[in-house]
Amino acid sequence: ATPTALLVGTGRGAQLGVLIKGPQVLESTRRIDTVVLDKTGTVTTGRMQLLDVRTAEGTDRGEALRLAGAVENASEHPIARAITTGARQELGELPEVTDFANVEGLGVQGVVDGHAVLAGRAALLQQWGLHLDGPLAEVKAAAEAEGKTAILVAWDGAVRAVLVVADTVKPTSQHAIAQLRELGLTPVLLTGDNAAVADSVAAQVGIDEVIAEVMPADKVEVVKRLQGEGKAVAMVGDGVNDAAALAQADLGLSMGTGTDIAIEAGDLTLVRGDLRAAVDAIRLSRRTLKTIQ
Ligand code: ADP
Ligand code: MG
Repeated sequence: ATPTALLVGTGRGAQLGVLIKGPQVLESTRRIDTVVLDKTGTVTTGRMQLLDVRTAEGTDRGEALRLAGAVENASEHPIARAITTGARQELGELPEVTDFANVEGLGVQGVVDGHAVLAGRAALLQQWGLHLDGPLAEVKAAAEAEGKTAILVAWDGAVRAVLVVADTVKPTSQHAIAQLRELGLTPVLLTGDNAAVADSVAAQVGIDEVIAEVMPADKVEVVKRLQGEGKAVAMVGDGVNDAAALAQADLGLSMGTGTDIAIEAGDLTLVRGDLRAAVDAIRLSRRTLKTIQ
């Protein structure tokens, strides 16, 4: 490969809204056969909205929103922002949180007004011996069946509320995934979210292979496993939790709209956060390499 032809490819990439770390990157895209896509912020906008607040019998709705909003105020996660924004709209100022901890891929915990509050996945609450049953379990199941995410909120030793949040699929995702298939690539959806939500998003954009409920630290293991099966893997992601997987992949594509850590870990940045730029990048590298050969 002549460096000049590769550099031409690199310059063309910039026009397409793709930033390429170095000319050598284009070469590694040649063998790619599998494209692993993070869900939140990559296939979806990551702009979540709080749609519903449901409480257990005897629990005040405002109280649930106040405690959940306060504890999520200390988190940067898109789900946290949706909950805090929704809570502020209804209640105005939120109380302070102390002893805050972010439990990566599971949720958050903290102390608000003397209550130890947990908000997140069922797996987080299980760590504290808390389980969901009765009408709230039905609320959770119904929300997830519709592709929404249910966040469980517990304080004073019981699960007392379910907050329903939803994210929307980017309007360009479906088209981009169809084009990846046309290039002979297999798309795989990878997410820490639950299987019901993941399946719903996958169906909306035309992805058959779904790997859900993956802890942030295990995303890299999924990439390694696929590589172990002989696949050449491109990973597309936006979050801190995607950084190790982006670095491990044969080709790491980070969303320009994502976190700096993810952008640093990738080989290539999709400036506008549009998945179609990933397709352009792969096409471009194939064309560039053909010119060289
Ligand atoms: P993804 O892999 O789709 O980017 P994450 O790994 O960031 O998702 O999160 C996985 C799941 O963990 C979320 O769907 C949510 O259920 C839970 N979670 C993560 N952070 C929070 C938070 N701040 N509040 C509540 N739940 C959270
Ligand atoms: Mg993400």
